[in-house]
This record gives sequence, structure tokens and C-alpha cells, in this order.
Amino acid sequence: MGAPKKKPTQMKRDQRRAHIKASVPNLIECPHCHELIPSHTVCPNCGWYAGEEKIKVEKEKD
Ligand SMILES: [Zn+2]
Repeated sequence: MGAPKKKPTQMKRDQRRAHIKASVPNLIECPHCHELIPSHTVCPNCGWYAGEEKIKVEKEKD
């Protein structure tokens, strides 16, 4: 295998990384409580997923 003769310049390094960026989370509206939640996730607000309550969410009482 040939080894690189020179270290890549800052410009070449940054051009390579130009398309590496944080992706926007895919937010959907919870069908039960209408909070915005990431898709394929049990709703942290009401504990619902796929039309039924999967976990019990404790409500903080002040
Ligand atoms: Zn919900």
C-alpha cells in the first residue's frame, strides 16, 4: 500500500469534513398528548407508544 507523501493541508482536511454536520432530529407530534417527540420513541411526557401506555410517567408535584 502506498503511503501518503505529504500531510493533507488544512484546506483539504476541512474540505473533506465539509459535509459532516449534525443532523436535525426527526420530531413528530405525540398522538396522545401532542408534545413534539423524536419518532420511534416512547413519549417522555405521557409514556404512550403505538396507541397504548407503555411506561408510567411520574408527574412532579410542586
Ligand atoms: Zn405523549
